[in-house]
Amino acid sequence: MKHTKVMRYQVIKPINDTWETLGHILREIQRETRVALNKTIQLAWEWQGFSATYKQQHDEYPKAKEHIGYASLHGYAYNRLKEELYKMNTSNLSQTIKRAADKWKVDLKDVLRGDKSIASFKKDCPVDMVSKALKIRKEGSDYILTLSLVSIKYRKELERKQSSFDVLVSTKDKTQRGILDRLITGEYKLGASQLLYHKKKWFINVNYQFEKEETAFDPDNIMGVDLGIVYPVYMAFNNSLNRYKIEGGEIERFRALVERRKKQLLQQAKYCGDGRRGHGTKTRIKPIDIVSDKVANFRDTVNHRYSRYVVDMAVRHRCGTIQLEDLTGIASDNAFLKRWPYYDLQQKIEYKAKEAGIQVIYIKPDYTSQRCSKCGHIERDNRPGQATFECKSCGFKANADFNAARNIATKDIEKIIQEELIDIKSEIG
Ligand SMILES: [Zn+2]
Repeated sequence: MKHTKVMRYQVIKPINDTWETLGHILREIQRETRVALNKTIQLAWEWQGFSATYKQQHDEYPKAKEHIGYASLHGYAYNRLKEELYKMNTSNLSQTIKRAADKWKVDLKDVLRGDKSIASFKKDCPVDMVSKALKIRKEGSDYILTLSLVSIKYRKELERKQSSFDVLVSTKDKTQRGILDRLITGEYKLGASQLLYHKKKWFINVNYQFEKEETAFDPDNIMGVDLGIVYPVYMAFNNSLNRYKIEGGEIERFRALVERRKKQLLQQAKYCGDGRRGHGTKTRIKPIDIVSDKVANFRDTVNHRYSRYVVDMAVRHRCGTIQLEDLTGIASDNAFLKRWPYYDLQQKIEYKAKEAGIQVIYIKPDYTSQRCSKCGHIERDNRPGQATFECKSCGFKANADFNAARNIATKDIEKIIQEELIDIKSEIG
């Protein structure tokens, strides 16, 4: 099981250069990084707009390669930016574009919904370094990091022999030294790292990866997680009748609060008159965007808490498997998805589950709410109301979310349901 962690080291001084030289180059690279991030976001909207128009005209999404000439947003952005941003090491540029494209993808739904403003990267944004752009060595008790940050073209322009820079970093304690030692011996693997500028000092966030023994939970011990409207999360198990649920409402309450504030701000903008309007739409929209980001941040925090709870319960029950609903078939304008960033919640559950050595399996949620978890009978009328389940065949009565979560917790449930559906058809036929 692979784990990834980050340790921050302060750059004490350059080895073969002056601070003046290194500082200037770092600021140039940071400027280009910022441009790369912001322009990738702009290009992503171009990309998105193109697909949407194409979808309207042809009733299907374009295969990017055929129509724009590049197989991915990443390739599209890279080819548009590489000439202008010639100072950066090309691998690092590629990594920076990937970072912006990933951020854009994650934010897309929230932005389209108006819950979040479009990401913009500030002057002090971190500079990306792919793993091969960072080398570590030890001289006496000093740790020297070699940074490959500039392109060949920029190196020539700077009239330098080497495109890399050696810097001395500070190591405060045994842990910090131990990580670098293990990276040198190869016990730990280096990941994509970042350079940061903070309070007039440069730091390197070293990303390191290591193997950790897997938790030996039984994969046949399964927790099923039902995502719903009444309860955002309902958990059940295949090997016990225990159940846990999370009461919903807190995000809705927060959203209502924020919506009220939004309205107030709009009113204010109206009454501010031309004086305020004179500064352009930017001034008027900004406070509202901040309010929108607040909702998104709040949901992010809440989803972290919920996912922690879900995985803790799985660990407590020694589950080697968590089964989640595969929501990809559900239309994005579905009311169910609109109310909650379920996709984000699932991602967070998956991440934390993997950390705990628990595998995550996605199952198609079809019929999991109509199927009796006790006898397997599938019938729409098993659900007399939103909240209750009552089996027409065996009379099993339960909370509807609990019944669904029990189905989701069943091993091979998709296959079982398929077989049961064939049985129903042959009975009718
Ligand atoms: Zn039944």
